[in-house]
Amino acid sequence: MSKINENFLNLQESYLFSTVAKKVAKYTEENPDKKVIKLGIGDVTRPIVPACIEAMHKAVDEIGTEEGFKGYGPEQGYEFLRNAIVENDYKTRGIEIKPDEIFVSDGAKCDCGNIVDIFAKENKVAITDPVYPVYLDTNVMSGRSGKYNKETDTYENIVYLPVTAENNFKPELPKEKVDLIYLCFPNNPTGTVLTKEDLKVWVDYAKENNSIILYDSAYERFITEKEIPHSIYEVEGAKDVAIEFKSYSKTAGFTGVRCAYVVIPKTVKGYTNTGEAVELNKLWNRRTCTKFNGVSYIVQRAAEATYTEEGQKQIQENINYYMNNAKIIKQGLEEAGFTVYGGVNSPYVWLKVPEGITSWEFFDKLLEEVNVVGTPGSGFGPHGEGYFRLTAFGTKENTEKAIERIKNWKNG
Ligand code: PLP
Repeated sequence: MSKINENFLNLQESYLFSTVAKKVAKYTEENPDKKVIKLGIGDVTRPIVPACIEAMHKAVDEIGTEEGFKGYGPEQGYEFLRNAIVENDYKTRGIEIKPDEIFVSDGAKCDCGNIVDIFAKENKVAITDPVYPVYLDTNVMSGRSGKYNKETDTYENIVYLPVTAENNFKPELPKEKVDLIYLCFPNNPTGTVLTKEDLKVWVDYAKENNSIILYDSAYERFITEKEIPHSIYEVEGAKDVAIEFKSYSKTAGFTGVRCAYVVIPKTVKGYTNTGEAVELNKLWNRRTCTKFNGVSYIVQRAAEATYTEEGQKQIQENINYYMNNAKIIKQGLEEAGFTVYGGVNSPYVWLKVPEGITSWEFFDKLLEEVNVVGTPGSGFGPHGEGYFRLTAFGTKENTEKAIERIKNWKNG
């Protein structure tokens, strides 16, 4: 008899985006004359920049020739891309990372999810709350979460670190000892960031407790304030305790093209039961070679092109476009009297819903009364209740229209 991994039965249905979609579909069916504007899901809308498109065309032509044909590539990624990452994402910030500490992949979602493979089941996991759901669910699947408590909407073995207005969206160190710590900054969903000093507290904690920080910086390109770190390795000591996840999805519009990378410095160590230190880089390399056959040559050439002068300029234009939307949302909501967070170093704006109503009730009101769709904060975890996320990834025209509607509604 085939037995299943029963941990999967311990997963809670993710109702968030399916419920949003269902509610919007029902509303538009019943109100076909209404123009609903969606500022909910975090996908990008700008086309991929010409520098990357040209690089892909060139790569396609190349692999159609005898000399240029490419079969299986290195599982960890082509050297040209790993070198470009080292030079552009790290050396320019004064960080020394070696090419063999970088693993190119087809997405930060897979990397954040798959990384649990190299850690023992007994590790105590801490996640910020609200949070990008992948960290929690992959730990449930791999049996680290313990039982689900319906009343509190939490798992018994997971340590939740609230990030709310009360603590200025800065997670506090846990009271109990934890082994794996997920941090994501700029944060999805709150759009808030941590300074180097804030991150140093976590790096010091990890060093003291032999813990590992899993740092997701998928949104670092949206940082506009100079002093905010783009990489955790800007913090002294982080190369001993942190794994960093980066993605071209939001940076370069690769949500459909698929390319990302994970950095595991050779100085980052985990421990055996007998206390022997083991390089995590080695374990991840072994996992990658066993379970992955690399990202396509064409896509890696496109990722490389993001670092050319033209590529950088074109990508920055798209990022400026989205960040202008973020400004429109943030300013407009503030003028309408809302309390708003994020939106300065991130494409996400996180707003406090009016007293006395829940995130979902606010969702319904916004949909029905002004025909604007956002994402209820409670869908990202219990501490997201009372908040609401709007994204800057729409078109400028739709963003302006949506905010005008909200302003007229709130002030009317
Ligand atoms: N990490 C965070 C915090 C995200 O919000 C997302 C996507 O929304 C991802 C990772 C996924 O990135 P990718 O498209 O590279 O899988």
